[in-house]
Amino acid sequence: MYDVVIIGGGPAGMTAGIYAARAGYKTVILETGAPGGQAATTETIENYPGFPGGISGPELMMKFYQQTINLGVEMIFQHVTALEALGPVKKVMAGETVYETRAVIIASGARPRVLGVNGETKFRGRGVSYCATCDGFFFKDKDVVVVGGGDTAIEEALYLSKICNKVTVIHRRDQLRATKIIQERALKNERISFIWDSVVDEIIGNEKVTEVSLHNVKTQEKQSLKVDGVFVFVGYIPNTDYLPVEITLDERGYVVTDKQLQTNVPGVFAVGDVRQKSLRQVATAVGDGALVISALDKYLSN
Ligand code: NAP
Repeated sequence: MYDVVIIGGGPAGMTAGIYAARAGYKTVILETGAPGGQAATTETIENYPGFPGGISGPELMMKFYQQTINLGVEMIFQHVTALEALGPVKKVMAGETVYETRAVIIASGARPRVLGVNGETKFRGRGVSYCATCDGFFFKDKDVVVVGGGDTAIEEALYLSKICNKVTVIHRRDQLRATKIIQERALKNERISFIWDSVVDEIIGNEKVTEVSLHNVKTQEKQSLKVDGVFVFVGYIPNTDYLPVEITLDERGYVVTDKQLQTNVPGVFAVGDVRQKSLRQVATAVGDGALVISALDKYLSN
C-alpha cells in the first residue's frame, strides 16, 4: 500500500514525487517512457530559471530524475491502463499489476496532436515526425516543412534551421501564435520561409516522404512542395484515456481541478500539462508539483 501513486514522470510528476518523499510519504511514480516526458524531447530550455545560458531538455530532466530517486521515490517504468478512484483505497492498474494507494496524482501530460491528412500515418517515421530533437539529425542538409504557428512549431523550426538546408513553415493563418521573441528570431532567419493561410492536404512519397500538397484557405490555390521531411506541431491532446468517468474533464479533455489541484474525486489530484490551466511550461509544471503536496497532506492527515 502506497501513500501516493503519481501517474507520469515528467517535471510535474517528479516535482510532486520530491515534495511527497520529503513530506515522508511512501511514493511511487509510474512512467510509460523515459523520465522527463515531453521536456526530455526539447532541445534547449531557456525559460526555466537557474540556467542563464539555457539547458538541454534531456539534461535538465536527468537532473530532476536523479534528485527524485536520491530522495527515495520509486520510479517504475510501466504504462497505466486504468484507475479505480473512488473510496479511501484507490487502485492503479498497469497491465496485470495493481498498485493500491491512499491518494493519486495524475501527471500524465499530453501528446502531440496529429493533422489527420492522407499519408501522415503511412510515413510516420519515414519522413513524418513530431519531434525535431529526436529526428532532426536524419534531415541534415535536407528540405523540410514545419506545420503549425505556435511556440512549439516556431522553436522547432529554429532548431531545424541549424541542421537542415531549408525549413518552410506552413501556417493556417497569416499571424503566428508563438511568443514575439521567438517569432522575431524565426522571421529574420534566412533558412526559414513561411507559407501563410495554408493547410496541408496530403503527404506524398514512395519509401519516404517526397512531397506535400497544400492549399491556401483564402484563395483556394493549390501547390505542392518537394520535401524530405514533415514536422507536425499543431498542439497537444491530454493523456487521460485511462481515467474513469467519475473524474471531470473539460471540453478539450483536460482534467479539471480546484485551486489546490484536487479533482472532483477526493484524494485524486492533477498536475502539469494534463490539467486545465492557462500556461503549460516546465516552470508551471514544477509549481503544480510543489503546490499539490499541501492539499495531499491535508487529505492524507484526515
Ligand atoms: P498551440 O499553442 O496550441 O499552437 C498550435 C498551433 O498549431 C497553432 O498555431 C494552430 O493554429 C496550429 N494548428 C492547430 N490545429 C491545426 C491543424 N489541424 N492544422 C494546421 N494548424 C493547426 O500548441 P504548441 O505550440 O504546441 O504550444 C502548446 C503550449 O506550450 C502553449 O501554451 C505554448 O505557449 C507552450 N509552449 C511554450 C514554449 C516556450 O515558452 N518556450 C515552448 C513550447 C510550447 P492557430 O494559431 O490558427 O490556432
